[in-house]
Amino acid sequence: MNEHAVVIAGGGPTGLMLAGELALAHVDVVIVERRATQELDDSRSGGLHSRTIEVLDQRGIADRFLSAGQTAQVVMDIGDLPTRHNYGLALWQRDFERILAGWVEELAVPIVREREVTGFTQDDTGVDVELSGGASLRAQYLVGCDGGRSVVRKTAGIDFVGLDPTTSWMIAEAEMDEPELGLRREGVAIGPVNRVEGGGPYRVVLAERHVELGTDPTLEDLRETLVREYGTDFGVRSPTWISRFTDMTRQAASYRAGRVLLAGDAAHVHPPQGGQGLNIGVQDAVNLGWKLAQVVNGTSPDSLLDTYHAERHPVGARAVRYTMARVALDTPDERHQALRDTMTELLSMDEPRRRTGAMLSGLDVHYDLGEGHALLGRRMPDLDLRTADGPTRVFDLLHDARPVLLNLGDPGDFDGAPWADRVSLVDAAYEGAWELPVLGEVAGPRAVLVRPDGYVAWAGDLTDPELPRALTTWFGSAREG
Ligand SMILES: Cc1cc2nc3c(=O)[nH]c(=O)nc-3n(C[C@H](O)[C@H](O)[C@H](O)COP(=O)(O)OP(=O)(O)OC[C@H]3O[C@@H](n4cnc5c(N)ncnc54)[C@H](O)[C@@H]3O)c2cc1C
Repeated sequence: MNEHAVVIAGGGPTGLMLAGELALAHVDVVIVERRATQELDDSRSGGLHSRTIEVLDQRGIADRFLSAGQTAQVVMDIGDLPTRHNYGLALWQRDFERILAGWVEELAVPIVREREVTGFTQDDTGVDVELSGGASLRAQYLVGCDGGRSVVRKTAGIDFVGLDPTTSWMIAEAEMDEPELGLRREGVAIGPVNRVEGGGPYRVVLAERHVELGTDPTLEDLRETLVREYGTDFGVRSPTWISRFTDMTRQAASYRAGRVLLAGDAAHVHPPQGGQGLNIGVQDAVNLGWKLAQVVNGTSPDSLLDTYHAERHPVGARAVRYTMARVALDTPDERHQALRDTMTELLSMDEPRRRTGAMLSGLDVHYDLGEGHALLGRRMPDLDLRTADGPTRVFDLLHDARPVLLNLGDPGDFDGAPWADRVSLVDAAYEGAWELPVLGEVAGPRAVLVRPDGYVAWAGDLTDPELPRALTTWFGSAREG
């Protein structure tokens, strides 16, 4: 039987990101993926939100994605939020996966393709992972990144709590003769019909009259729905693909069962309004990656993994709540039209727009790490720093996914040697303001401890007795020199 430290079931956006994070920490990881190649035959995510671009920037790979897509203000205008990436990136999921898979390949992560994880059993020391075709793998931990129908979640017996679908949408890419473009709200057709970049086929999203589940719709179904909603099928033909999604909204009751963890769609599914699914999955992976690496590498106890559920479940719950509200808001009747108009009015005001924009873009995430400096549990801003080696910025310091103790005061006030094998100690100077999304300007600390995922584990003065405690809690005990 083949042994690995970690087996990841599913090499979609979440599984790939997690594999990259583990590989950066030198963990022996393997992905098991059902698909023969990374190709996707339908359209899914249309892009990245700001915080996802930031986490890619923290690894030094944001430019690969930025140069392949187009930046724009998407669901909400976030142009005035304090981040280098104060925009969304229009980039189809197939391109996102291709580029991310390229990075994972550079990091030499093996991918076992055309195999499915079909089940597992776990004991005190590890997990036996069963694969289609009769093979099996032994791992210390198994992570289910195997999408909404996750076999890992089902085998673990984790409840998937939430709402059954009430509406389904047909989504397709096909040739059409001059269709009516844009969004349409009468009846149940919500559109939009749009032309694929470069004058290619048209993309259409149509609400279906009844909830349809199971098999993919056919060209005939697409024709019928177009005729019903528009009075014509616009000569629809030659579909590249036709697919369907629903407003099913569910979240795993627990993101962990012993040595088995869930991330991405395996842990939460909701309709695509707001465009958060892939983004949250990638950020789940970045939260879990360094913690799992430290546990596997023996620097932290297994209990560190409990913080993954504690931190990421509330983020998923918020996305679930937002998409439920969006689906309700899309109900095509006069009262809901009045509600839509009221919301539009509210969101035209700066404060509601900034708050909702910060939530959708992931910039306002605040992990509850207790009382302390305003930065605690929030994303570390990408400050421009001066160091003895020249100018740098905070995100550059995070490229190798190691924690950073950033000292902005006088050098030499703290003996970081007992953690120096795990934590980078950086002396730097920063003169500007500290501005956080939603909170606004906060007092700058003299030092800050940044986790590999870019969230602040401690902020204050280097003489603060909390600092050694925070270092031990997050990155393991002090070691003799
Ligand atoms: C129409 C539509 C539009 C969307 N728009 C957006 C958007 O604009 N923004 C956004 O952020 N999100 C959007 N999403 C959601 C986004 O597509 C998902 O959230 C994202 O794909 C989740 O990534 P994942 O890696 O967690 O799961 P998946 O992408 O589902 O990947 C799971 C992987 O696991 C593999 N797999 C499954 N079972 C097994 C098994 N047993 N063994 C081995 N491999 C297995 C699958 O082949 C797949 O590669 C949209 C979704 C849809 C349907």
